[in-house]
Amino acid sequence: MGRTQKVGPAGRFGPRYGMRIRRRVAEIESVQRQKHECPVCHRRAVKRVGTGIWRCTKCGAEFAGGAYYPETEAQRMVKRAIRKALEEEEGR
Ligand SMILES: [Zn+2]
Repeated sequence: MGRTQKVGPAGRFGPRYGMRIRRRVAEIESVQRQKHECPVCHRRAVKRVGTGIWRCTKCGAEFAGGAYYPETEAQRMVKRAIRKALEEEEGR
């Protein structure tokens, strides 16, 4: 047991849970372990500390994000809405 050629580290589950879900796990975990861009210093140095917690190894910034990705689609939508609201406020 362990790594497999088909699903990489998700091979640790052996034949359990089915092929489809193991492929998904492999995909999410590979993205999760990559270094992500820091929202403060914009260097690619953000690592996952725990579920939804991310820390930049360069500037030490720690922030909340998605469980498996530093920024989720929902967050982007909220940020866009806030920016728009602020722009409208300024225009008045
Ligand atoms: Zn940083």
